[in-house]
Amino acid sequence: MSIAKNYQSILHNVKLASSVTCCGNENPLQTVKVVAVTKNHSVQAMQQAMQAGVASVGENRVQEAQIKYHTVGREVEWHLIGHLQTNKAKQAVSIFDLIHSVESEKLAIEIDRAAQKLNKRQDVLIQVNIADEETKFGIDPGELIYLAQFINGLEYVRLCGIMTIAPYYDDVEDTRPIFKEAFQLFKELQTIALPNTNIQWLSMGMTNDYHIAIEEGSNLIRVGTGIFGARQY
Ligand SMILES: *Cc1c(COP(=O)(O)O)cnc(C)c1O
Repeated sequence: MSIAKNYQSILHNVKLASSVTCCGNENPLQTVKVVAVTKNHSVQAMQQAMQAGVASVGENRVQEAQIKYHTVGREVEWHLIGHLQTNKAKQAVSIFDLIHSVESEKLAIEIDRAAQKLNKRQDVLIQVNIADEETKFGIDPGELIYLAQFINGLEYVRLCGIMTIAPYYDDVEDTRPIFKEAFQLFKELQTIALPNTNIQWLSMGMTNDYHIAIEEGSNLIRVGTGIFGARQY
């Protein structure tokens, strides 16, 4: 299957999943942003996806993104979906429209400094580790409000929501409680209405589980394999 056909079939499935009126999905036919995850794929693959209509790409490493950014530039929206080291904050801020992986005050401060230098307001999400997996980055759900309040106090960073990664389960239905909890946290953040935030993105769902994530209220999915095929490492 071609990248274009794969992308069309993802869009079709997104439409089906977002028309389900249940669970967290209070707003059927809500718009769901599809971020095409291009990590470990070539810049040519990225360009093919853009020709097929992809408007947002996700990368998990700053260095790899820099190389592709050099070719593609601002023709596409850039999402950082992987762990960010504080010493890479400056390069990250110069490329990414949305950083999904903020998980500490320290990182938030570094992003704020870098954004100030570039005279930019950097949109970010807090990554929440809901299943408490040791192998995953992200904060515990219980720390969310504190970190959100902290970021609210930074002038050059704007908190826009949360991101979570569900664990891999043999039965994909087992991801549902994780996504339900993320949706509750997202709603809570909206409810406390911190003045310098714009809580609009609930980033959850990947190739295997995006249909469930959308049913539970996701409005931003990150799909790699489903668009580009298996990654070669
Ligand atoms: C790699 C990656 C994805 C995409 O995963 P697929 O299973 O290929 O769709 C999504 N989110 C994050 C954070 C990733 O690292």
